[in-house]
Amino acid sequence: MSGSALFNTFARLPLSFERGEGSWLIAANGERYLDFAAGIAVNSLGHGHPHLVAALVGQAGKLWHVSNLYEIPGQSRLGERLVEATFADKVFFANSGAEALECAIKTARRYHFAKGNPNRYRIITFEGAFHGRTLATLAAGGQKKYLEGFGPVVDGFDQVPFDDIAAVEQVIGPDTAAILVEPVQGEGGVRRLPLVTLRRLRSLCDEHGLLLVFDEVQTGIGRTGKFLAHEWAGVTPDIVALAKGLGGGFPVGACLATEEAASGMTAGMHGTTFGGNPLAMAVGNAVLDIVLGEGFMECVARKGLLLKQGLAAIADDFPDVIEEIRGEGLMLGLRCKAPNSVVQKAFTEEKLLCAPAGDNVLRLLPPLTVTEDDIQEALNRIRKASEAVSAANQAAAS
Ligand SMILES: *Cc1c(COP(=O)(O)O)cnc(C)c1O
Repeated sequence: MSGSALFNTFARLPLSFERGEGSWLIAANGERYLDFAAGIAVNSLGHGHPHLVAALVGQAGKLWHVSNLYEIPGQSRLGERLVEATFADKVFFANSGAEALECAIKTARRYHFAKGNPNRYRIITFEGAFHGRTLATLAAGGQKKYLEGFGPVVDGFDQVPFDDIAAVEQVIGPDTAAILVEPVQGEGGVRRLPLVTLRRLRSLCDEHGLLLVFDEVQTGIGRTGKFLAHEWAGVTPDIVALAKGLGGGFPVGACLATEEAASGMTAGMHGTTFGGNPLAMAVGNAVLDIVLGEGFMECVARKGLLLKQGLAAIADDFPDVIEEIRGEGLMLGLRCKAPNSVVQKAFTEEKLLCAPAGDNVLRLLPPLTVTEDDIQEALNRIRKASEAVSAANQAAAS
């Protein structure tokens, strides 16, 4: 055997951490890193948030798991709160983003089946999308590099170019069940779908009797400065998948739907052993205590603007390093001019963590609880790192 005992599926940075405090991660040797990756938009309340720790520890002493054979009061409560805060009437809890999407896909297909249209199972998706790594969600994402070598691709997904309404209109047929889209593509490079496009998709769905499904696994739970990102467009979806930020680091996913959209999902139609267990629900409820608190979302929007303005100033000074700032709230992307791996390395040398994405982008996804001081410190580090990359560019050119 060579190397580690783990599957070689991840290209990990040679870093590991022992504990975290707010927006900071601390290595075993005491080195402190400013965490603007937040576990890929998962640690919505940072590390070691006292309210989350108390919720988890409190629940751990009582009950961890009972299965969905029984009533789970924390699950009912979290479901009611999500319904209260969103468009939805019904919620199914899962353990991950991909599972939430699987439920969304099944719900959309089953809706049409129950209406007497079993042929209507095809779902329209967009190039650059990412919906997860199960066989169906990979097919939905349509990325060749992830699909190759895994056998027949799950049927039923029609992909069109990003933001191409004409292509959507063209591909809608008698078998179309739904349109599935991320309001802002995350893995695809923080690419925001224009609000007018989101509205246009809604009207196309209405015209053709399709369900509109938003993948808000990354954009949801306050990330963009609204509880769900589609609120910016003022459109009402039929189904939404959530995960990442919902558990603040504990694995939780959720599929939200209107009563009508969920009408095909009757007893026995879907299931999960772990989904919605008391531990996950205690943490999810604690996350909502904070995120749905007075003024929290406005604060995210304000801090996002502060970060974005600071980044724009750096991009102006180092156009050979950073080409464009994208995104909304605390889901920001730096489209790099230099290779994003080079820029990321320079950030890491300044002990600032970020998450790479497609389209040569680096994502900045700090905890939603990031302080203005942390933002200023991140900007200082990004400026220093950009200076270093720019200097190396100039040295290589001369
Ligand atoms: C992360 C992500 C997923 C997949 O979530 P997992 O928990 O990794 O299965 C799906 N959709 C989007 C938009 C994501 O960002």
